Amino acid sequence: MKRIKTDLLVIGAGSGGLSVAAGAVQMGAKVVLLEGHKMGGDCLNYGCVPSKALIASGKMAYGQEHSAEYGVANAAPQIDYAAAKDHVNRVIGQIEPVDSQERFEGLGVHVIREFGHFISDKEVQAGDTVITARRVVIATGSSPFVPPIDGIDTVPYLTNETLWELRERPEHLLIIGGGPIGMEMAQAHRRLGSKVTVIEGAKALGKDDPEMADVVLTKLGSEGIEIAEGALVDRIEGGDGTVTVHSKDGRRFTGSHLLVAVGRKSNTDKLNLEAARIETTRTGINVDDSLRTTNRRVYAIGDVAGGLQFTHVAGYHAGVIIRSLLFALPSKAKTAHIPWATYTDPELAQVGPTEAQARETYGNRLEVVRFHYNHNDRAIAERKTEGLIKVMVVKGRPVAASIAGHQAGELINLWSLVIANKMKMSQVAAMVSPYPTIGEVNKRAAGAYFSPRLFESNTVKRVVGLVQRLIP
Ligand SMILES: Cc1cc2nc3c(=O)[nH]c(=O)nc-3n(C[C@H](O)[C@H](O)[C@H](O)COP(=O)(O)OP(=O)(O)OC[C@H]3O[C@@H](n4cnc5c(N)ncnc54)[C@H](O)[C@@H]3O)c2cc1C
Repeated sequence: MKRIKTDLLVIGAGSGGLSVAAGAVQMGAKVVLLEGHKMGGDCLNYGCVPSKALIASGKMAYGQEHSAEYGVANAAPQIDYAAAKDHVNRVIGQIEPVDSQERFEGLGVHVIREFGHFISDKEVQAGDTVITARRVVIATGSSPFVPPIDGIDTVPYLTNETLWELRERPEHLLIIGGGPIGMEMAQAHRRLGSKVTVIEGAKALGKDDPEMADVVLTKLGSEGIEIAEGALVDRIEGGDGTVTVHSKDGRRFTGSHLLVAVGRKSNTDKLNLEAARIETTRTGINVDDSLRTTNRRVYAIGDVAGGLQFTHVAGYHAGVIIRSLLFALPSKAKTAHIPWATYTDPELAQVGPTEAQARETYGNRLEVVRFHYNHNDRAIAERKTEGLIKVMVVKGRPVAASIAGHQAGELINLWSLVIANKMKMSQVAAMVSPYPTIGEVNKRAAGAYFSPRLFESNTVKRVVGLVQRLIP
């Protein structure tokens, strides 16, 4: 058995682990990084990157079929599903070097390609190496949760880990789960020519503001995606090429392929956490505000910590703990300024609480302003007028924003900045946006906040009247 001593041991080379390792080593710490599977983790190999690449293929196909209203005749797209998957793989290949073992070794990180598990509260074993570290960071991510539905083991099913290997286009894709992953894959597959049925036990896109989610769901429905809500799955039967899903209320859905996208489970199984006295909760590893586990030497970040499960959250967590790991400074993870986006077309984006959640917190101090895309000239020019922005404001400061519409994921960046820095609505209103841009919806939302104050105020009218009369 080999023995290594290090300042910092990072378990898991995904979005969170790589960010901590890169930051810490470049600031002078001795870092060991363990990865039992693929460098880059879920986001690069099975998540954000392949899903966004396949969505891009779907957009191309959709564009060809819907160009007539722009004066360019519609064409029936010649879709080659396997070639779309080749495109997905090329995109992964292009990003891969940034997350590679070679790059990290070049930075000075000692990379060990093994799964790690605790053997005591200070030691982790990875293959034939035992590592003793001053601090340990668990960044082992999450895996698709496959619920124990009657019959699930008797049928072939796909998850976000296996979908990318599929080379034949599904004739009819059944998707259990109407969350962001399910809906993104539903639209991409529909646009690439599959029939698609989404089977959702409650409400599709149920974590988002229902008014905003409806913008997306209406569009998805208009593209021919069947969305069955309130359909709790009871049992599944079938075999290769035909799968039938029965819901508890007696509905039946039959398709050629099945994708299970009902949620995630934190990757803690391999870690032997008991040996290090690290406790878990129902959703992941139990951490405090500083992302410390019940073992003070050990931190947990990203998906495994069981909070918001996004790449940018894992990256944010990395920044939070680097402060305390390397500089022994107090540092807390917050959530109020964390955005998220669903990359359907139109997109759906949120930062801070939804309108309903904000109303519960702020009561009648909350003001909500809206601006619809159909008043934005660029959206009109591009025929992307579905959607709206809503900004939740308390005493002149935005506390949340929701956007459903073209480029919502890009537009939310501004509100993330505003909310992270506790800026005022007046500062957004002071911004000059280039015309004509979709981004003008942000400024117009701020305008919608001030319009009644300026245009409907008798005081303003009196002052203006006075100035006109008194000043020559
Ligand atoms: C289909 C899909 C689409 C998504 N799209 C987006 C998106 O558009 N935007 C977004 O922000 N997020 C998206 N996500 C979420 C995003 O992928 C995750 O939030 C992110 O990858 C979490 O990073 P992480 O570092 O916590 O874990 P991961 O990136 O999963 O990395 C964990 C790593 O730890 C390794 N590991 C596990 N156990 C051990 C062990 N014991 N020893 C050593 N190594 C171990 C794993 O092999 C893995 O490589 C998507 C997810 C999915 C599934």
